[in-house]
Amino acid sequence: MLPIPYGRQHITEADIKAVTDTLLSDFLTQGPKVAEFEQKFAAYTGARYAVAVANGTAALHLCALALEVKPGQRVITTPITFAASANCVLYCGGEVHFADIDPVTGLIDLQHVRRLLESHPNGYFHGLIPVDFAGLPVDLEQARALADEFGLWVIEDSCHAPGGFFIDSHGQHQHCGNGQFADLAIFSFHPVKHIATGEGGMITTNRADLYEKLLLLRTHGITKDPAKMHRNDGGWYMEMQQLGYNYRMPDMLTALGISQLQRAEEGLARRRQLAGRYDQAFADMPQVQPLAGAAGHAYHLYVIQVADRKELYDFLREKQIFAQVHYIPVHTMPYYQELGWQPGDFPLAEAYYAQCLSIPLFPSLTDDQQHYVVDCIREFVQR
Ligand SMILES: *Cc1c(COP(=O)(O)O)cnc(C)c1O
Repeated sequence: MLPIPYGRQHITEADIKAVTDTLLSDFLTQGPKVAEFEQKFAAYTGARYAVAVANGTAALHLCALALEVKPGQRVITTPITFAASANCVLYCGGEVHFADIDPVTGLIDLQHVRRLLESHPNGYFHGLIPVDFAGLPVDLEQARALADEFGLWVIEDSCHAPGGFFIDSHGQHQHCGNGQFADLAIFSFHPVKHIATGEGGMITTNRADLYEKLLLLRTHGITKDPAKMHRNDGGWYMEMQQLGYNYRMPDMLTALGISQLQRAEEGLARRRQLAGRYDQAFADMPQVQPLAGAAGHAYHLYVIQVADRKELYDFLREKQIFAQVHYIPVHTMPYYQELGWQPGDFPLAEAYYAQCLSIPLFPSLTDDQQHYVVDCIREFVQR
């Protein structure tokens, strides 16, 4: 039962067999499992196209390249995210800007984004990267409307929210990564994420132009499709048409992804059940404030806020419960401070960081383990 981490992958015998089967097949990289995973993942999100890539960070980098982020271009994201959401802009020579969060949800506050946009001339900013933080989907209908008003593209960082949805102004469920509002959406298959393949990532989109660019950029900028070549010297001929990368996801890992994807809804249901039980347990502990929930929340993380966070973190460690902090605000990282950002720039994000703690939440967390976590937190607040 102990120790209990904050998140953990769940690997079954079927997952293991899916991987070992590909090891004996003809393909270790870019084989039939890649295309199958892409099709199934696109169907799962509701997007037209999906491109499997090496990891979530590579997905972000390729998105920034496909949207042609250029040196000096400015892109807005949230300070409460994993650094990769912001770094992809820097990879292309762009400038990262931040807008503060809504303290109730932990998500980027679109009112702050609007104020930032309005305080600069039109054309000053080029893109927006909202993050479905903790698994709570951003209202992309509103984000899109704002982006259109100011001529921005949108990349949805949905690493925390496969299977999540928000409810649009017509009462429709809009699933994360479905391509209805964002130009591109990205996912990660890091072991703590909903679908775990070790390393792995996915980009979804409804835009055929971006899809074509992503395919080229993923494999060195090289095409083997005669229909797309400038000339054809013979059967061996291929063309490098752009400066691309090797950001492929291998067949053996996409086979694992396919197997995991089959259990995605089951895992999501369990995450929501566990989150509901935490909600109930903390309802009578005023010292513990969970972040806002929602019907379409995908619950990658269950975040609580407590005044004496460091004490609770250490207390839980002694009880062999390994809670975690998500996230240290990106703008307070030394690298971003060298770029000119300072503590105090985004007070709501910093106040959130001072009190947040992600407590254990993953599908294989047992009822007994969850009771133990709740009992330990109760013991702490009553001490
Ligand atoms: C995990 C994560 C990433 C990066 O994904 P990797 O697969 O680890 O490269 C990017 N953004 C967010 C919000 C993440 O949680």
